Amino acid sequence: MDFDAATAVLTSEREKLVRQLAELGANEAGELTGDVEYGDGFADAAATTAERTEVLGIVDNLRGMLADVDQALARVKDGTYGRCESCGREIGAARMEFRPTSRFCVDCKRKR
Ligand SMILES: [Zn+2]
Repeated sequence: MDFDAATAVLTSEREKLVRQLAELGANEAGELTGDVEYGDGFADAAATTAERTEVLGIVDNLRGMLADVDQALARVKDGTYGRCESCGREIGAARMEFRPTSRFCVDCKRKR
């Protein structure tokens, strides 16, 4: 496992997620900062609320991905990155490339 390469991939993934959150008007904690106004052009409050709810759903999703990336970076630091958390075997390179935040090998993932 090339930890330097993994760190580079994960760091750029992290930046991308933080940027997406910022575009939605949210900070890293998923709180809407009010920098982005929702509901412009919507006359009724229900539509605004629906839009806000939808945005919060997306923000939640992005936050989850961000947490995964942070966990992966922590695993790089303690040297367990790229190993299955369940069986301890090394996770295939193709899988790690496809999904750099993978925590389980294909076999264990299937069993979960
Ligand atoms: Zn496994």
